[in-house]
Formats: sequence, structure tokens, C-alpha cells
Amino acid sequence: MPQHARTTRVCRDCDGFPVVAITTGTRHADGTRATLRIACPTCQGTGHTASAALARTGR
Ligand SMILES: [Zn+2]
Repeated sequence: MPQHARTTRVCRDCDGFPVVAITTGTRHADGTRATLRIACPTCQGTGHTASAALARTGR
């Protein structure tokens, strides 16, 4: 068994960064920026390919 089993398939759509913070332009009362956290629709926030996600859910 090869120990290189860490070849987790990174989602090609988000390149392994499934959750991104988008600045909305508005700011909170304390001056910090209000951000929206968007999960990648392709991998559903897992960062891996759909096949891995499906295998995990057992569908
Ligand atoms: Zn993704």
C-alpha cells in the first residue's frame, strides 16, 4: 500500500478554498467590514471533488 494516499482530490472549481469571504461594502458599527461567507457550490464547502463528497455521504 503506497503511503501517498493523501492525494485528496481538490475541487477544481475553488482550488481547495471552498469558503470565501466576500466584502459587501458595508461596515459594522465598530468599523469592521461586513463579509458574506460563500461555500463553493461544486464541492459544497468540502474543498474536494464531488465524488469524494458523495462517497462520504454514502449516496
Ligand atoms: Zn469547490
